Amino acid sequence: MSGSSWRLGPPAAHLCQVCAGEHEPQDPHVATSLYYQISFHQQHGRYATWADAMAHCDEKTNRAWEHMLTELGLWDLVEKHDAETKKRKTRNRRPRRKATGAPADAGGEG
Ligand SMILES: [Zn+2]
Repeated sequence: MSGSSWRLGPPAAHLCQVCAGEHEPQDPHVATSLYYQISFHQQHGRYATWADAMAHCDEKTNRAWEHMLTELGLWDLVEKHDAETKKRKTRNRRPRRKATGAPADAGGEG
C-alpha cells in the first residue's frame, strides 16, 4: 500500500458536476452529498455548509431553502437571520390562557 490519498472521479454526466447530486441547476447543491463534501474540502480546506451549497442560487431560492432548512432544524449557520428567528419565536409563543375562576363546587362525596 502506498499512500492513503485517493481521488474522486467526476460525477456521472447526468448528475450535477459539483455535488454529484440530482437537482435542477438553479437549486442548491446536495450539501449532504459525500462527493460534494470531499471535493469542497479539497478546494476550501473545510466542509461545505448549506450556505455554500446554495451560494449560486438566486435570492428567492435562497429564502425558500433557508426557510425549509430552518424548519427542519438544519439551518444553524446563518447569523443574520438568527435574530429574526428568535424574535418570531418569542412572538409566536403565546402563553395559553388558564381557565380561572371556575366554580369549585365539586367535592364532597356521598
Ligand atoms: Zn449540485
